[in-house]
Amino acid sequence: MSGPATTPDADPGTRVRDLDEEALLAAFVPLLPVGDATLVPPGDDAAVVAAPDGRFVVTTDVLVEDRHFRRRWSTGRDVGRRAAVQNLADVAAMGARPTAVVVALAVPSDLPVAWVVGLAQGLADVCAPLGVGVVGGDLSGGDAVVVSVAAHGDLEGRPPVRRSGARPGDVVAHAGRCGRSAAGLALLTAHDAGWSGPGSAAGPGADDELVAAFLRPEAPLGAGAAAARAGATAMLDVSDGLLRDAGRLARASGVLVDLDAPAVAFAAERARLAPVAAALGVDVDAWLLTGGEDHGLLATFPSGVALPEPFRAVGRVRPMADASADASAGTATGARVLVAGSPPHVTGTGWDHFARGVPAAGPSSGGAGQPRR
Ligand SMILES: [Mg+2]
Repeated sequence: MSGPATTPDADPGTRVRDLDEEALLAAFVPLLPVGDATLVPPGDDAAVVAAPDGRFVVTTDVLVEDRHFRRRWSTGRDVGRRAAVQNLADVAAMGARPTAVVVALAVPSDLPVAWVVGLAQGLADVCAPLGVGVVGGDLSGGDAVVVSVAAHGDLEGRPPVRRSGARPGDVVAHAGRCGRSAAGLALLTAHDAGWSGPGSAAGPGADDELVAAFLRPEAPLGAGAAAARAGATAMLDVSDGLLRDAGRLARASGVLVDLDAPAVAFAAERARLAPVAAALGVDVDAWLLTGGEDHGLLATFPSGVALPEPFRAVGRVRPMADASADASAGTATGARVLVAGSPPHVTGTGWDHFARGVPAAGPSSGGAGQPRR
């Protein structure tokens, strides 16, 4: 496809309403990667993607402006990266190699075309290095920006790694970041409330590692297939916080998950986050244990298996019978998850607060974080 007559670079004031659909598509479609598994690329009524395994993994996730992201915080490129990461993390969590995504987009007529172009760049940032194609989509007008992505993956002949396969004696392991997205959201929220403490300049495009971790999460998207190859017995991506997602795995498997203390399991991450948490008056362990949207992978492996990079052991699977020995551990968390053998005590983030999916946010709460799968 040839370039548009009016590019957003030439006129940053160009709005979606200033272009017809063809010109708008021409502004960003050439930025999208075709992908390694794509047999018929965009241009026909639908794309065709190889599924050599005979099965394919499929998942979808939607991002709604002012519910999952805010335009004053997130650039289009941020949102594109996040939309890709959270979908591909779900594919990876099944033990699959991501192959292709399709994207449906609703945009207000006054949205800058540059924002849409940024969205495409963000999708490409995540998808292109993995050989994942952005192979189709749809475009519609709307009152707010809505980005809906469906992602596909190839199991490469392996069984899917489900949440239900953890067995007592398995090692619990984690790959990726933990607590950083919650910390970034807390910094943004605090700065919105007038806080001027250290740790972040905040604001869209701010070059701060923690704010960036919230705006542009980076997940170990290749580690899911590696975990499957290494014999992972159960897996999911940590989208809603470690305790909550570990609870899902525990319930599905009918086991207890006993996580190591955060100071042990996440020593480096905890040291990185602790000063920021202290400045905001937040319990750093609340970020580590209940902070969502980092999209790390939580998996269980048979004892003795060499963990594939970048997985690190963070706990043990125990039989449910241990629950009685730990008094009301199961009911206390509602999730059959222990921390260092005891029901978790997390201050700074109440369970009701957490249940709404909004991480602790310092002086002012409320944020763009929402429960995900
Ligand atoms: Mg998930």
